[in-house]
Amino acid sequence: MARLLQTRVLLKKSLNLIIPCLGSQSRSIHNDSLLPETHRMLKNSLTDLVDNEIAPFAKRTDSEHRYPIESVKKMGEFGIFGLLVPEKYGGGGLDTLAYAIAMEEISRGCATCGVIVSAHISLYLSPILEFGTEKQIERYVTPYLTGDLIGSFCLSEPENGSDAGAASTTSNLEGDNWIINGSKMWVTNGSLNGASVVMATSDKAKKHKGISSFIVPKPSKGVTVGKPEDKLGIRGSPTVQLTFENVAIPSENLLGQTGDGFKIAMKTLDCGRIGIAGQAIGIAQASIDCAAKYAMERKAFGIPIAQLQAIQIKLADMECRTQSARLLAWHASTLKDKGENFTKEAAMAKLCASEAATFCSHQAIQILGGMGFVTDMPAERHYRDARITEIYEGTSEVQRLVIASNLLKEYSFL
Ligand SMILES: Cc1cc2nc3c(=O)[nH]c(=O)nc-3n(C[C@H](O)[C@H](O)[C@H](O)COP(=O)(O)OP(=O)(O)OC[C@H]3O[C@@H](n4cnc5c(N)ncnc54)[C@H](O)[C@@H]3O)c2cc1C
Repeated sequence: MARLLQTRVLLKKSLNLIIPCLGSQSRSIHNDSLLPETHRMLKNSLTDLVDNEIAPFAKRTDSEHRYPIESVKKMGEFGIFGLLVPEKYGGGGLDTLAYAIAMEEISRGCATCGVIVSAHISLYLSPILEFGTEKQIERYVTPYLTGDLIGSFCLSEPENGSDAGAASTTSNLEGDNWIINGSKMWVTNGSLNGASVVMATSDKAKKHKGISSFIVPKPSKGVTVGKPEDKLGIRGSPTVQLTFENVAIPSENLLGQTGDGFKIAMKTLDCGRIGIAGQAIGIAQASIDCAAKYAMERKAFGIPIAQLQAIQIKLADMECRTQSARLLAWHASTLKDKGENFTKEAAMAKLCASEAATFCSHQAIQILGGMGFVTDMPAERHYRDARITEIYEGTSEVQRLVIASNLLKEYSFL
């Protein structure tokens, strides 16, 4: 927390101080000169943390499908989990741009750590901060800033994912309690110690307008945690099914008003998409780092393969897509920080970043040749980790729908 607090002070006072703990590895090659000084310092500080405390453990996290408890602890000490939480609630009080930068840096070192952080910050803490009461924030935000308690978000169900308005999990008010019944699927962080934000319908006839949002503490009587999914990538991030059987939730745990659930979910996903864009950019950057370094060392026909135009063209395309996605993510973040509408821009950032991650990790394997296909090098892990970024928090098809519908609204067509 100390390092984040130092950065926050700088954010406020805009002082050009030298913080001794900042890492020395400037990443100014990655558009950093566009960032305010304080965000550059945050990024450098994170680079230090990631290179020393997170990236070295990413391979083991992946191969053993192991929750990276040590990295989570380090991130907690840094203050990552409370990065967006206002100071008055004990957090870092930083902005969305800082969050996008943090998500990229963390995911560059370990995509599993990236999604653990992203689901906690964007999907769990953000809706409570935006729609919760002071009492809810005190109980379900303030104790969640160290990494000891990690939150989750339950929208998807076995029968519906993209069609989130078709929720069949029910919530019925009985006396002072809401009674929740149903199943939620693919819950990131769902098996960890911590509460969940759960969407459930109290009036199916009203379709998405009948959905409400609840904070469900775990463990709670009637909540069953399924076995972790065996995944292609982000293998250290626990993804589980949660089943709710007559789970009684005090009425004070309703988030917002009855029927606000779908609106809360969509607003939550807008912010979440900036986080996943950051995750995808981190994976794309890690793929470039790995491929460029390898290409400079590996020789074929007596010269480093980096001198071959066929390799250079791949690197150029990787760099263009990654830099473009990064600028989109920073743009969406800046709009959000200015209080402007950012739904279209967040979807654009997520779409372009996830496609850049898939493209770059694919090309990195090609540049590495046989070494790209084995686990001695991280390229194959990046390839597997990249794939999910085109699926969760809205598939690439859904992002295109969001972008097009907002674009057409701008022309007053819809
Ligand atoms: C590892 C992982 C972690 C996840 N974490 C969470 C979490 O923490 N919380 C949570 O609530 N959910 C989570 N999800 C769920 C995720 O958000 C959904 O998987 C995703 O939204 C897609 O839903 P689906 O899998 O049901 O696919 P479907 O909705 O069944 O879609 C299948 C295909 O049809 C396409 N499609 C669907 N509708 C349209 C349309 N209208 N136009 C064009 N194409 C369409 C999709 O793009 C996709 O290609 C997670 C998923 C995974 C795999």
